[in-house]
Amino acid sequence: MQNAALAEVGLTSWRYQLLPIPPDLFPDTVPALAAAGFRGINVTIPHKEAALGLAHSATERAQAIGAANLLIFEDGGAITADNTDAPAIARALPEGLEGGSALVLGAGGSARAAVWALREAGAEVRIWNRTPERAWEVTEQLGGLVVERLEPADLLVNCTPVGLNGQDEELKQLPVGADDIAMYGCVIDLVYSPLDTALIRAARRAGKPAVDGLELLVTQGALSFEQFTGVAAPLQRMAEAARAG
Ligand code: NAP
Repeated sequence: MQNAALAEVGLTSWRYQLLPIPPDLFPDTVPALAAAGFRGINVTIPHKEAALGLAHSATERAQAIGAANLLIFEDGGAITADNTDAPAIARALPEGLEGGSALVLGAGGSARAAVWALREAGAEVRIWNRTPERAWEVTEQLGGLVVERLEPADLLVNCTPVGLNGQDEELKQLPVGADDIAMYGCVIDLVYSPLDTALIRAARRAGKPAVDGLELLVTQGALSFEQFTGVAAPLQRMAEAARAG
């Protein structure tokens, strides 16, 4: 997706590459990448909190969320951190959520980004998590209320990895079954592989609007691309490349 975008805008000498890094090597690898000429990095599980800790400065949203998925290596050596998951989720939210309600499943890094985006949009947020103590922590820092059972809402957002196997039985790990989807105005599932998760399938069967995780992945990637390059992201090309992948 990123390399397709670089080619599309003519940045032919740029490369975006995958670099698996064990957590214990992360703090030494990041400055080494900056010194080696990288413009920046996107980070994913389990590095998002460590990335924020390594940055010299961070956007307000990254600080509030407590996690960064983007580090930019500035000229002069400073590292700045941002979280582009949150604005990607914000862009996927349905119109008119101000004063409406949302139920977030999960209390990890992406759930924190979702809670931040939903609170910014003026929604009343409920959070369910398998380990309720983690949900309490999120509400203490970002607001919202913890729930231990299903509640109806205008929007349901899955921020757990449940759905990765593509099986309907997976939903048993969440409080929400396929028959409960009617309680929600629309559904966002952050899981992007497979695209057709049990939750997305249930939403479509119930005739509810549904946003899959790939759409969010493309948006957060496009926002990162713009910070890396200073060039407007070719969104359609990125979406095509991501879906083809
Ligand atoms: P994370 O920080 O590790 O948090 C995972 C959350 O899921 C925790 O709340 C955990 O609950 C819960 N969970 C894990 N396994 C579960 C299970 N079997 N049943 C019920 N709950 C379970 O992960 P994350 O960064 O938030 O990512 C979550 C998912 O979102 C991943 O699949 C990731 O790929 C996806 N994601 C997608 C995008 C996108 O752009 N589409 C962006 C970010 C993340 P406990 O607290 O009880 O462990």
